[in-house]
Amino acid sequence: METIFTKILNGEIPSVTLHKDEYCFVILDINPVSKGHLLIISNEPYPTVGSCPDEILAHMMQIAKKADGILREKLGCDATNLIINNGKESGQEVPHLHLHIIPRYKNDKKSIPMTKETYAGAEMLEYGKKLEF
Ligand code: AMP
Repeated sequence: METIFTKILNGEIPSVTLHKDEYCFVILDINPVSKGHLLIISNEPYPTVGSCPDEILAHMMQIAKKADGILREKLGCDATNLIINNGKESGQEVPHLHLHIIPRYKNDKKSIPMTKETYAGAEMLEYGKKLEF
């Protein structure tokens, strides 16, 4: 399925591209959480992590490590968030696998808007049993 990212890869939509290789490409997010927010995008439009071959995922993680280093070195950020919205219900707007890397700074007051839950009684152990692999 063609996505907005496929169109960017094919040059049909302009982008600021930072890197390209046989498995993925890297662009600046047009609407950054903070300036320098980038997206590592698989060349093939795999919709989610589960549908992407292991070697491509591994490669994208290596590219993420490089990009993280570049953001720290060139922008002087103190930390980064690496985020994959993995399916529509998680907030994924573009159904084409991409990893966000967001530069973060001490006291930048940007929060991840997710509330936390608590387990009741033995629930945590039950979840542990169910999810063991
Ligand atoms: P997600 O919600 O995880 O699917 O993220 C999609 C991201 O793509 C959002 O952060 C958008 O700002 C970004 N985006 C959408 N269109 C473009 C574009 N033409 N160029 C760069 N980034 C884009």
